[in-house]
Amino acid sequence: MSDSAKKGIKIGASIVVLIIAFFMIRGSVRDELVDSVNTRVFKDKDSGELFRVSIGPGKKYFPAENPNTGQMTLFPTEVCFKNECGDNEGTRVILNTLLDKPGPTFCPKCGALVSSR
Ligand SMILES: [Zn+2]
Repeated sequence: MSDSAKKGIKIGASIVVLIIAFFMIRGSVRDELVDSVNTRVFKDKDSGELFRVSIGPGKKYFPAENPNTGQMTLFPTEVCFKNECGDNEGTRVILNTLLDKPGPTFCPKCGALVSSR
């Protein structure tokens, strides 16, 4: 086998490895993106229950329907990690602006100011 043929096989093999790696990486990244982009944690403004809601690009996605009550009471949330809220998974808070309430939003648990990211 000539040197150039060996070289060709080497290059071919490394390209195949690269392609496989590319698809493996892309597959896992895409799954994460789908999870974080297309769903958000919504909170029921009345009961405080949390739901994961699928959202689509460009459409108005809130208020969303609470699957338990059928009421349109679910709103997207921000997460407070301040004070004691940072000790656990954070506290989900609905911003006042989404509820047509005036003024800044404060965390109901620790009282910290919560703003949109
Ligand atoms: Zn808090």
